[in-house]
Amino acid sequence: MDFIKDGWFTETCQLWPGQALSLEVEEILCNKKSEYQEITVFRSKTYGTVLVLDGVIQCTERDEFAYQEMIAYLPLLSHPSPKKVLIIGGGDGGVLREVVKCPMVESVTQCEIDEEVINVSKKYLPEMAKGFQSTKLTLKIGDGFEFMKQNQDAFDIIITDSTDPVVSGPAESLFKESYYQHIKEALRNGGILCSQVDSAWLHLEMIKEMQTYCKTLFPVVEYAYSSIPSYPGGQNGYMLCSKNPETNFKEPRKTLSKEEIENMDLKYYNPEIHRASFILPEFARKELDECMTSSA
Ligand code: SAM
Repeated sequence: MDFIKDGWFTETCQLWPGQALSLEVEEILCNKKSEYQEITVFRSKTYGTVLVLDGVIQCTERDEFAYQEMIAYLPLLSHPSPKKVLIIGGGDGGVLREVVKCPMVESVTQCEIDEEVINVSKKYLPEMAKGFQSTKLTLKIGDGFEFMKQNQDAFDIIITDSTDPVVSGPAESLFKESYYQHIKEALRNGGILCSQVDSAWLHLEMIKEMQTYCKTLFPVVEYAYSSIPSYPGGQNGYMLCSKNPETNFKEPRKTLSKEEIENMDLKYYNPEIHRASFILPEFARKELDECMTSSA
């Protein structure tokens, strides 16, 4: 656990060389090795409880909602009738918590590779993990890539809430073109996918590559982002694809009222931020538009 030293956690990773985020630690609550990764939970001075996998922050109590709400509601509220949802990864339970809140969703299947992440989250992050109690849920423990291959024409929405594509890590296959080919098969007509793809500040080349092959598979492909201080670069990106050529991700299909937002206890998502999340700074817009035009 060399990422915690002198009372500070420091996040370094081959995927964001030359930079690191540090959080002051009050108490280490858990540190164990599962079959797939090292799982650490600590109470931080100013970000609440923090879940870390292989030295990389997955969520903090202070800002997790920015990620969980956006990766859930950008696709759900772009679909006319999102009844059947699949979540790949998401062992902390935060995305599931948001998806089961949506009244249009009838059933959710979640496929997480590492059961230990779920157990640890239930114990140390109960507010985040409360979705695991939902009667809408069918939980599968296994590799999301393999699970995807077994499903055809089965889901309206597929959300990939995975760890980052570290070489030889469990999530590497979830960033490959073949995974997106299997998602296309697993989606029903008019189905929508949303995947976490990191920040344009750090991973523009990877986003371009993903967008280029997604465009060969789906008629509508967009990149959106939200701000989130504990993720590398202070942002997270989302790749959204639809099988329905009429989908306009930039305008919510269902606009939540102020009352609905309050009843659903949303803290980041609202219709305005939905629209704004697709407006990119010029350096990213230029690169991503160019790759869309050349692959069209
Ligand atoms: N929001 C987080 C982020 O972007 O940092 C991701 C949170 S969630 C904890 C990520 C989960 O993906 C982990 O629990 C990990 O075990 C799971 N995961 C990684 N590779 C997977 C795979 N191939 N199949 C299913 N789940 C996978």
